[in-house]
Amino acid sequence: MKLPRFSLVALALWIAAAAVTGAASAPRSWQAGTGRELITPPAGLWMTGYAVRTHPADGTAQELWVKALALADPAGQRGVLLTFDLCGITREISDTIAAELQKSHGLPRSAVMFNVSHTHCSPALEGSIAGLRILPPDGVAKSAEYRKQLEVRAVKAARAALTALAPATISWGEDQATFGINRRANTEKDAPALRAAGQLKGPSDPRVPVLAVRTADGVLRALLVSYACHNTTLSFYQWHGDYAGCAQAELEVRHPTATVLFAIGCGADINPNPRGTVELAEQHGKALADAADRALAGKLTTVEGVFSSAFEDVTLTFSRHPTDEQLREAAEKQQPNREMHQAWAAYVTAQKKAKGEAVMRYAYPIQAWTIGNLSWTALGGEVVVDYGLRLRAETPGNLWVFGYSNDIMAYIPNERILKEGRYEGDTSMIPYGRPGPWSSGLEEKIVSKAGELIRRTRGQ
Ligand SMILES: [Zn+2]
Repeated sequence: MKLPRFSLVALALWIAAAAVTGAASAPRSWQAGTGRELITPPAGLWMTGYAVRTHPADGTAQELWVKALALADPAGQRGVLLTFDLCGITREISDTIAAELQKSHGLPRSAVMFNVSHTHCSPALEGSIAGLRILPPDGVAKSAEYRKQLEVRAVKAARAALTALAPATISWGEDQATFGINRRANTEKDAPALRAAGQLKGPSDPRVPVLAVRTADGVLRALLVSYACHNTTLSFYQWHGDYAGCAQAELEVRHPTATVLFAIGCGADINPNPRGTVELAEQHGKALADAADRALAGKLTTVEGVFSSAFEDVTLTFSRHPTDEQLREAAEKQQPNREMHQAWAAYVTAQKKAKGEAVMRYAYPIQAWTIGNLSWTALGGEVVVDYGLRLRAETPGNLWVFGYSNDIMAYIPNERILKEGRYEGDTSMIPYGRPGPWSSGLEEKIVSKAGELIRRTRGQ
């Protein structure tokens, strides 16, 4: 009885070895595919991003999109990047979409990456930036319906990209754009003069990384562009992708065969400057498109090697919770942005009731991809510029750092900004519906976990 079983195992091993040898003698290339779906809501939904909005959106100035870029290495290991012209996304939404892709395509959670452009001219999403405003009942219903539609369309775009996978040459390079300024260190009004004099203060990250996907005969099929700058040139009542939407639209006109995606970097304390009009959003979009085109025309590195992904949460904690008295005062006091303080008090109270002590902890998502000779890390929340600068400086090899990924739950200050406080370090927790500022120590937790995941995806 034993011998035949052994022989069967030996035969199976021989067949497997032959298959591997066969694959090695005829290596497959990298593959890529794209998909896209419109996600522009109808007029009548409430917008998000700013506390001062007093009524729902009244029309569309530019369409909003979800776009998908699927990549597969020569061994068939796949990943899908989904980019959204939206202000935020919740963990529930990204996990729901990823679960659908796991069911249909067997993709692990780590192989699906979500990045929102953070345009403030986009709809309020159920559960996202929940302390900004209490929506009227019909606003809640419309927002919930939009969320369902969004999930369906994102899954559809991702599946289209996976279905379209075809042999491709993937390459990447970098250039620079300078319309983003550190908004904590420079006033909006003074920035143009300071820029002209070369005296802008505070850290910023001018780098514009670009990933290009071409067919075997050189046709540009996809272009991914990144920049670390708040997508907030505009604050009117029309749907619009802001400068990132304008850059994508401009590049799709210049490269009509390509789907152009935008993934935002760590730009939470970086603002476009100047801002306030559609013309300025278009000007910044064109500046970003020009930088992408310069990168494309420059020296590009071709992706070789394998694809690998990792995803983990680290537990961050909040440093304090408001007392009942403080919540009552926030709900009742006559003060600027009164609706926001009322929404914060209501949300924090409801969360405490539902979750108890667990509201003091947050499962913060960190993701890493290695695409041959290029690594990405994708961090949740509104990540300040110091993270992008530090991770790239401290990580050997080639790394891009995205913020606003997988779950936008709050600002993510580094230790310096947490100590300084103000909006990004403290008071922005109110529109986000969080009990208080993060506890000290978050920067080290995030940086060390990101480093660990990057090394893991590199097989180190
Ligand atoms: Zn923001």
